[in-house]
Amino acid sequence: MMGFKVINPATESVIATIEQMDEQRTNEAVLRSARAFEKWRKVSAPDRARLLRRFAAVVEADLENLAKLETENCGHPISDSRGTVARVRDVFDYYAAAPERLIGQQIPVDGGVDITFHEPMGVVAVIAPWNFPLMIAVWGLAPALAAGNTVVIKPSELTPMTTMRLGELAVEAGLPEDVVQVVTGAGSVVGQALLDHPKVAKVVFTGSTDVGRRVMASAAPHLKRVTLELGGKSANIVYADADLEAAAAAAPMGVFYNSGQDCCARSRLLVQRSVFDEFAELLKPAVQAVAVGDPTKEATQVGPLISAGHRDRVAAFVTDEEEILVRGQAPQGPGFFFAPTVLTSLDGKARSAAEEIFGPVVTMIPFDDEDDAIRIANSTDYGLAGSIWTRDIGRALRTARGVEAGNLSVNNNSAVRLQTPFGGFKQSGIGRELGPDAALEFTEKKNVFISTL
Ligand code: NAD
Repeated sequence: MMGFKVINPATESVIATIEQMDEQRTNEAVLRSARAFEKWRKVSAPDRARLLRRFAAVVEADLENLAKLETENCGHPISDSRGTVARVRDVFDYYAAAPERLIGQQIPVDGGVDITFHEPMGVVAVIAPWNFPLMIAVWGLAPALAAGNTVVIKPSELTPMTTMRLGELAVEAGLPEDVVQVVTGAGSVVGQALLDHPKVAKVVFTGSTDVGRRVMASAAPHLKRVTLELGGKSANIVYADADLEAAAAAAPMGVFYNSGQDCCARSRLLVQRSVFDEFAELLKPAVQAVAVGDPTKEATQVGPLISAGHRDRVAAFVTDEEEILVRGQAPQGPGFFFAPTVLTSLDGKARSAAEEIFGPVVTMIPFDDEDDAIRIANSTDYGLAGSIWTRDIGRALRTARGVEAGNLSVNNNSAVRLQTPFGGFKQSGIGRELGPDAALEFTEKKNVFISTL
């Protein structure tokens, strides 16, 4: 068997050797999925709903095991991994309500009755990244299944463990054979084969903007539908009238969560010039207090980066001593740990202020007024998330409307709630996941006219 080694990023030890599939094996999986679709689409809406509720129940029963696997494979702190699995369960529960609510319209017309249906598309490919492998796979999987599609998931080469377990849990939940399949291997082989296969109707891709462009180009010959969730360079905007203590206390985990390997990471910290120095002083102890270390320990807040190569990439952004405001702690020894780091860029022109770092590094940039804050926030090709800290509700709303990003929060750094739509403006993506309408993103609207003459 051609295999690839899966590494625990906190210990650098090999935890498994996983099959590296080739194009032929991938194509076979797609054909099995297409056959399963013919049966799955005919399963009644209440039965699909029941099966999704059972999927939620088997995830719940496996919560501790899945959480430990995710921590071992990705280095997520165990408390975060438990939260992730609980949210995965909640996503299945939420979309269990969707099959029975894919309600069409009856439209008044001349000479008959006109009705619309939301038809499933067929085989959906979900191509997932390594930063939140389980959760991101399920954001595509659950609503796609709810709408009557079958799904082939390709996890990242680095993080296949919980996705493979999810494939087993689908069977345990009672979903018919091949309705959910997991294919493992290289993006350029397995991922590309999914993109090229004519039987794949839709691709949900989460990953880098560069690969996202390639995904869209590969989808074009068959006019496959795409949802793209790509990179980000989100701004955390702190106005002088904000609760500065609260903003400074929250800012570190707004970017260092998951070691900064978060598409929504607030990696640009825009602070109004009149309180820039005061805010910097409040921020220092908060950064030094972040608990970086062994992700199996309950108190750990931040684990390692995913790989040695990625740590080198991140480290290349922290070379100029002059720019460093403060660094937190990180353990020595094995594991790809990297100390949380705050840089300053007074003119906003540092490389760290422009590129997605995907590590625990944030760049503080001063701004003068509301227009300046919005201008700087928008001076990027990305547009995924952002935060606004102010006590002025009008300013909060004006800024929220002015920032070109899909997910903004006021006096808070959260971005993702399963009940609300999530996705990017500009080069952060196309389409939306989650929220009340996600199942519709996996359907085609069909119009049927019935003559009554
Ligand atoms: P990546 O683009 O390198 O890989 C993502 C997936 O695509 C992997 O499964 C990979 O194997 C596969 N792939 C690679 N080449 C392919 C090809 N030619 N054809 C088909 N599939 C291919 O991304 P990554 O490094 O795994 O993840 C980090 C990136 O993901 C960051 O840029 C981050 O911002 C982004 N991300 C975005 C969101 C979001 O919701 N917007 C969420 C998480 C991560």
